Amino acid sequence: MQQERLLKVLVIGDLGVGKTSIIKRYVHQVFSQHYRATIGVDFALKVLNWDHKTVIRLQLWDIAGQERYGHMTRVYYREAVGALVVFDMTRLSTFQAVLKWKGDLDSKVALSNGRPVPAVLLANKCDQRRLGLCSKVPKLENFSQQYGFVGWFETSAKDNMNIDGAMTCLVKHIMSLQ
Ligand code: GDP
Ligand code: MG
Repeated sequence: MQQERLLKVLVIGDLGVGKTSIIKRYVHQVFSQHYRATIGVDFALKVLNWDHKTVIRLQLWDIAGQERYGHMTRVYYREAVGALVVFDMTRLSTFQAVLKWKGDLDSKVALSNGRPVPAVLLANKCDQRRLGLCSKVPKLENFSQQYGFVGWFETSAKDNMNIDGAMTCLVKHIMSLQ
């Protein structure tokens, strides 16, 4: 018999890094230059036929408007089992905010055994690489290991690069812990 799993995954990071675009790309296969900044919390659902006995209902939680405070409430984090932490490759300040977001996540939610929920780091807008921070950002491999991310990806919601790969990586880690 098939089992169904509902996974709540958060997408966090500073304003304008591409969180909404990543979700729309992944769930609806679209990209637009103009997403209206909806106020509040929004979520999208993606159904994955994970294996022959498991269907995953992946609930992706977006934030809008609250990014500017640099943190979210406990209610938002409640029962989350994973997160994508996103920064914009062309804006250093959004990379500098990554650890603040990771800290906010880890201080407000944990697995039932007390371990941090798996988080994947996304360096988004990699289609804009020529404007990128390559020289200013530390090697993401080392950085992501040092700060406890389970993986990292250079992504582009615009060109549909690595979005599926990043999600699959996160879901694999989540499922390995269930
Ligand atoms: P959010 O505030 O984190 O939800 O960011 P949005 O998804 O609203 O994106 C902010 C802006 O960046 C929008 O103009 C998007 O079109 C643009 N954007 C998002 N992802 C990418 C990307 O991968 N490449 C490029 N070039 N622009 C992007
Ligand atoms: Mg948004």
